[in-house]
Amino acid sequence: MTDAVLARPDELDEAAALLEGKPAPEVLAWASERFGARLTFATGFGAEGCVIIDLIARAGLRVDVFTLDTGVLFPETLELWRALEARYGIEIRAVRPAQTIDAQALVHGPRLWERDADRCCELRKVQPLRAALAPFEAWITAIRRDQTAERAGARAIEADRKFGLVKVNPLVGWAHHDVWGHIYAHDVPYNPLHERGYPSIGCRPCTSAVAPGEDPRAGRWRGAAKNECGLHTTKEQGT
Ligand code: SF4
Repeated sequence: MTDAVLARPDELDEAAALLEGKPAPEVLAWASERFGARLTFATGFGAEGCVIIDLIARAGLRVDVFTLDTGVLFPETLELWRALEARYGIEIRAVRPAQTIDAQALVHGPRLWERDADRCCELRKVQPLRAALAPFEAWITAIRRDQTAERAGARAIEADRKFGLVKVNPLVGWAHHDVWGHIYAHDVPYNPLHERGYPSIGCRPCTSAVAPGEDPRAGRWRGAAKNECGLHTTKEQGT
């Protein structure tokens, strides 16, 4: 797929320029029109992801939605998954790793995340995501420029060389207060852990609460020199 897409960087540049600063629904509508059934949305049920599901449903767009079920998600996240499906009348597909947590422990030892988080993320997130994205031409993500230094240069539409498709980032210009303003204004379901000190929520073993004033992603892989799963970084540039 991607060769065809990546062979046309001019189209992506034009689209990125056209959609820079445009409202998120406009970016989503462009992507839906351009890619049709070959557009998907991978969500980890962060606040931004919930907003995008609401925007997709509000616009009546037919977009495939899936989540990476690593087998170690918080119970609150699993409940939110069901609540979003019920609220919007959609199915959010589960994409799972090749091995269960127990099977992974037999091969790599227990609690791989404590010894080699990059390897664990590769097995439980990156490889399943790569397989899940293979049939698609473009994927929507919930990244915002102000989340990490690696995301600061993100554009609304860009080539994703890591996964070899087009990445659509409708919330790229949003700030934290924009996300929560939308959630409260439209009564969008969200993870209650956000109100208990977890601004960024991933797998249970690798997510802890943050103290007031701490970086919002400080609770992800706390104590390790890691702040990305590897889903939105590439060797060339950068859940
Ligand atoms: S976030 Fe932690 S448990 Fe989840 S895949 Fe990465 S290392 Fe493994």
